[in-house]
Amino acid sequence: MKTDVMGVAFDNVTMEEAVAAGAALLEGPAGQYVVTPNSEIVYACRDTGGLSEILNRAALVLPDGIGVVYASRILGRPLKQKVAGIDFAAGLAAELARGGRSLFLLGAKPGVAEQAAERLKETYPGLVIAGVHDGYFKEDGPIVAEIAQSGADVVFVCLGAPKQEFWMAANGPATGAKILVGLGGSLDVFAGVSERAPDIWVRLGLEWLYRLIQEPWRFKRMCRLPLFLFWTIGAKLQGKG
Ligand code: UDP
Repeated sequence: MKTDVMGVAFDNVTMEEAVAAGAALLEGPAGQYVVTPNSEIVYACRDTGGLSEILNRAALVLPDGIGVVYASRILGRPLKQKVAGIDFAAGLAAELARGGRSLFLLGAKPGVAEQAAERLKETYPGLVIAGVHDGYFKEDGPIVAEIAQSGADVVFVCLGAPKQEFWMAANGPATGAKILVGLGGSLDVFAGVSERAPDIWVRLGLEWLYRLIQEPWRFKRMCRLPLFLFWTIGAKLQGKG
């Protein structure tokens, strides 16, 4: 079931339901994609032409941020829970390992995807890595061909938002992969290059604050979280939400 949060139709699912829905996409046509927008991305839809259409065309739209969950509550149609892209990716990787399906890792700085591949293979024995490529390429064509040749069932696309969403919508079917998942900085975390917030911060809904302390240059971007919530409250008060 879809839940509209400020123009983006989210799937109202638990983590387990999201992973099951993701695994089911493996039986469908090639080129379906999964997006994991946080409040910053939903807010960016206001001035990024075509972004909301691309998000709403995704096979699965998962709320990767506590801000989106708060907004859904403000609007009176609460989402079940935050479904962090990286947790969804981990769940899907486990499914791939069980089913003998293969994964291509695309994105991050040179060397990071290789490191992420090694760590993922350790964590999910049996996981087949079809290929890796960093996220700093000039032309899409050769990368698309490389993925198609690799025969990957799934591609983790980690180019940052909204670049990765546009990339998946434009190139998904040509890769031949069943599913592409837009995952921002997740390869850095899988590789151990950057760290996730400890559980207690996540449980308190303060993952964003932990990240801000680790990466203070994000301050300007994070200012969009309160702006997004004010925008939501405004819409609710005007009966537009
Ligand atoms: N990145 C990339 N190619 C680019 C720009 C960014 O591969 O042209 C990578 C970058 O190295 C990082 C990720 O995309 O690994 C973006 O991480 P960030 O945490 O900023 O993503 P977010 O989830 O916040 O969008």
